[in-house]
Parts: sequence; C-alpha cells; structure tokens
Amino acid sequence: MGKLDGRVVVITGAARGQGEQEARLFAAEGARVLLGDVLDERGAAVAKEIGEDRARYVRLDVTREEDWAAAVSVAREAFGRIDGLVNNAGILRFNELTATPLEEFRQLIEVNQVGAFLGIKTIAPEIEAAGGGTIVNTSSYTGLTGMAYVGAYAATKAAILGLTRVAALELAGKGIRVNAMCPGAVDTPMANPGLLDPDGVTEEARGAMDGLYRRVVPLGRVGRPEEIARLALFLTGEDSSYITGQPFVVDGGWMAGVSVL
Ligand code: NAD
Repeated sequence: MGKLDGRVVVITGAARGQGEQEARLFAAEGARVLLGDVLDERGAAVAKEIGEDRARYVRLDVTREEDWAAAVSVAREAFGRIDGLVNNAGILRFNELTATPLEEFRQLIEVNQVGAFLGIKTIAPEIEAAGGGTIVNTSSYTGLTGMAYVGAYAATKAAILGLTRVAALELAGKGIRVNAMCPGAVDTPMANPGLLDPDGVTEEARGAMDGLYRRVVPLGRVGRPEEIARLALFLTGEDSSYITGQPFVVDGGWMAGVSVL
C-alpha cells in the first residue's frame, strides 16, 4: 500500500529538480499527479515516463491566474478532483541589494510569492470540495536566516512562511493542513547551473562545490532533490496528520550553527 493511495496532487515547477522528484515519488506512493511548469517539453516527458494513468503535464506559469484555472480543469477531467498541492516552482537571482534592479526584485516576488499565493487561492477550494487535504509550500533556508547576495529571493522565501501560517489558520477548519519546507543547498539546476550543461558538471566545478559543502554543512554534502521529496511526502501524507502551519528545515544541519572546521 502506498502512502498517498487515492490522492490527487498538483505539483508546480515539476519538470526538473525537486518538483520532478516529488512527482515521481508521489506517483510511486500511489498518488495521481498533475505536473505544472513552463518547461513544456521536459515536463511532458517526465509525466510520460511516470505513466498516463498516474501523471499529466499542464503548462502552468504560476504567475498567471488563467493558467491555474486551466490546471484545475485538466486535473478535474483527468483525475476527478484535487486534494493536494505542492507549491514548488521558484527562481533564484544573485545580486547585492543595492545593485538589484527593481524589475528583478519584482520578478522574484511575482514567481516565488504571488505564484504560491495564487496556488493556495485557486487550489484550496478544490481541496475543500474533495473533503480536505494538504498544501506544502517551498520556502528555503534563506526564509529563516540571512544569506548575502540573495536579498530578493530571501524576502520572498520569508513571505512564504507568513503565507503558510495564515493559510494554516484559515484552512484548518476546512480540513486542509498547510506546511512549508526550508531546504538548504540542494543539487538541482538552481543551485548548480552546471547540471544544465549538456556536457555535465566539470570535475573542477564539482570538486569546488563538494569542498564548499564539506566545510559548511555538518553532514558534509549538498542535499539531493529526492531527500526534499521525502519531506514533501511526509507533509502530504497521513504521517503528518497532526502538523500544520510549520516550517521544516532540511539542510544537512547547516542552520544548526557555525561550523569551525
Ligand atoms: P530548479 O530550478 O531545478 O526547478 C525549479 C522549477 O520551477 C523549474 O522546472 C522551472 O522551470 C520552474 N519554474 C520557474 N518559474 C516558473 C513559473 N513562473 N511557473 C512555473 N514553473 C516555474 O530548482 P529546484 O532546486 O528544484 O527548486 C525548487 C524549489 O526549491 C524552488 O522554490 C526553490 O526556490 C526551492 N529551493 C531550492 C534550493 C536549492 O538549493 N536548489 C534551496 C532552497 C529552496
């Protein structure tokens, strides 16, 4: 028996990285999943690999209300209802605050923050109609503590924690639990753009990255997207039935304190 048997979950940003692994794991645990992204070819390929009976892909730019409405229609038609959401889509930009163009700051808010808000606004009524369920938002290590050069991003990730708490309060009576994940560094194209290079990550780049995480992360390595997917599974399934409104740090111990090594 799977941990998500009978569930129907919408996952945004599911064409690659953490969202892809969440879709694969949720389907393996018995859920039917609607993968949304703006990377259509890749998203459709992942859904196809998971299988028609378990997964569908829909173009879902999380900043567009009409895309959310279309996603609901696709999920209803394919799977009959929706009882889960993982707000995973996100973008990251590195910049000093005083050098950050206003347009860039706004773009991060639009995708990371407005995108999660629209997800809650659109999907919560569907989950309520299905008799209750879960929403998992994706914040970050930087939503809880500072990190230089990611000011716009950190602001949106802190906002997601605020959204999570309020949504948990407002939706508890409708049978909907809302929690947030705060990953540290995870080995996806966001943290490691070399992964997008067709020739792969160079030995040198990989060595530099491994060295960095060996020094700063107590568990001595970068996280794997599959490890974040397992937290999303916990927060979506019945194992977390008495938990709502909380942030969960999944960072190899990075935030436990300052490493002296
Ligand atoms: P990723 O870049 O591999 O994946 C992000 C996905 O979101 C991509 O498929 C991208 O196409 C999609 N996306 C971007 N803009 C979108 C939009 N407007 N509408 C729909 N989809 C869109 O990165 P990831 O590491 O898998 O990131 C997943 C989430 O985890 C993000 O919210 C990110 O901020 C968060 N996070 C990542 C890390 C890390 O180190 N990788 C750490 C903490 C938090």
